[in-house]
Amino acid sequence: MRETADVVIIGGGVMGCSILYYLAKQGVTRSLLLERDVLGSGSTGRSQAICRMHYSNPVTASMAWESLKVFTNFDELVGGSSGFVETGYLVIVEEVDRPGMERNVAMQQELGIDTGLVTAQEVKDLAPMLEIADTEGLAWEPQSGYADPYLVTTSYATRAREMGAEIQLRTPAIGIQVSGDRVRGVVTPQGTVETPVAVVAAGPWSRGELGRAGIELPLDTVRHQVAMLTRPVDQLPHHPTVGDIAQSFSFRPDGAAMTMIGFGEDQAEVETYDQGVDMAEVSLTLGKLARRMPAMSDSYFRGGWSGLFTITPDWHPILDRVPGVEGLYCAVGFSGHGFKLSPMVGVLMAELILDGQAATIDIHTLRMSRFREGDLNLPSYGFRVLV
Ligand SMILES: Cc1cc2nc3c(=O)[nH]c(=O)nc-3n(C[C@H](O)[C@H](O)[C@H](O)COP(=O)(O)OP(=O)(O)OC[C@H]3O[C@@H](n4cnc5c(N)ncnc54)[C@H](O)[C@@H]3O)c2cc1C
Repeated sequence: MRETADVVIIGGGVMGCSILYYLAKQGVTRSLLLERDVLGSGSTGRSQAICRMHYSNPVTASMAWESLKVFTNFDELVGGSSGFVETGYLVIVEEVDRPGMERNVAMQQELGIDTGLVTAQEVKDLAPMLEIADTEGLAWEPQSGYADPYLVTTSYATRAREMGAEIQLRTPAIGIQVSGDRVRGVVTPQGTVETPVAVVAAGPWSRGELGRAGIELPLDTVRHQVAMLTRPVDQLPHHPTVGDIAQSFSFRPDGAAMTMIGFGEDQAEVETYDQGVDMAEVSLTLGKLARRMPAMSDSYFRGGWSGLFTITPDWHPILDRVPGVEGLYCAVGFSGHGFKLSPMVGVLMAELILDGQAATIDIHTLRMSRFREGDLNLPSYGFRVLV
C-alpha cells in the first residue's frame, strides 16, 4: 500500500469510486481509496438504482440529468457498462400534491429535462398495464430507467486503477490525522498514509468517521426494503419504472422476468440493522402493487434484502470541504437517491478539490453550513425522497 498519496478517499461505494475516477481523469493518480470490506458492499450494492430526474430542487434535478447522460453513454465516456435500461419513469402523486408536481415539472423543463405532465388517459396509451385514478397527478420521463450499481462502481474503480490510482480492499480507515488546522494523513491498521487531502465517502459509516475527527454532522440512517417478484411475463412482458408516491413505494422491472419493489423507511443502526425483509410488509406492498398493476396478482416472492439510506435533515447530500480543517472533504448523506447522482458527484467533488469550487453545477445549496443556517432544501411535497 502507498505510504504517501495526493488524495486518500475513505469508502469504496459508488461515490468513492466515482470521485477516484474523476480525480484520476484530471491527472490526480497518486491516489488511494480505502475500503473496509469490498467495493459496493455498503448501500450501493443494495440500491434499486432507479435513475429519474423528478426532484423539487434544481441542484439535484441537474445532477440527475447530467448523470443520466453518463449512464447512457457509459462505455464511450468512462469505459465498461453501466447496465442502464431505459424503461420510462412515471411519478404518481395524490391530488393534494398536484400543485407541487406542476411546479417541479416546470422547473425541470426549464433545465432542459425531458419530462412532462400527463393525464390518466395518456398513461393508458403509454402504460396500459397501470391502473390510474383520474384525480392522481402524473409526470412522465421517457428517458429514465435503472442501471446496475455494482457494474458502475467497479467500472469507475477499474478505469481509475488503469490510470494509476490504488484501491485497498479490506482496509478500513481508523482515523484522520490532523495537525494544526490541516489533514496530514489517514490511519489504517497497516500504518498511516501521509496525505494532504482526505475525502470521506463512507456512506452510513460517515457519521462515525467524521465523529472520530471531531466533526459532528446531522446524519442518520433509515432502513429501506427491496423485494424481488417473479413477473407473469405472458400477461406482463414489460412495464415502466414507477415512483408510486401516492402509495409510498416504487417498482421497476429487473431483467426480462422480474419486478423489483422498494418500500419502508424505519430508523436503524448501521451495525445491527435487519438486512432481510419483513414478510408482513412485503404482503402489504404486494397488495399495493396488484392494485396499481393488476397482472402482478399472479407474481410470487423470490427473495429480498434491506439497505440503509444515510439521511440529512433535508434529504439532500453534503458535498463540501470541512470548514476549519484544510484538506478534509465529505461527500455524504445521499439518502435514498444518491446512485442516480453518482457521476456528477465525482465530477463536482474533483472540481471542488482541485479548483476550490465546483463549476459544472453550482452546489452551494449542498454546503455543510446550511443546517446551522436553517437554509434547507425544501420539497414541493409532504414526503421526502423527491425533495
Ligand atoms: C435499498 C436501497 C435502495 C436504493 N435505491 C436507490 C435508487 O433507486 N436510486 C438511487 O439513485 N439511489 C438509491 N439508493 C441510494 C444509493 O444507493 C446511495 O445513495 C448510494 O449508493 C450511496 O453510495 P455511497 O458510496 O455514498 O455509500 P456506500 O455504498 O454505503 O459506500 C460506503 C463505503 O464505505 C465503506 N466504509 C465505511 N467505513 C469505512 C472506513 N472506515 N474505511 C474504509 N471504508 C469504509 C463501506 O464499506 C462502503 O463500501 C438506494 C439505497 C438503498 C439502501
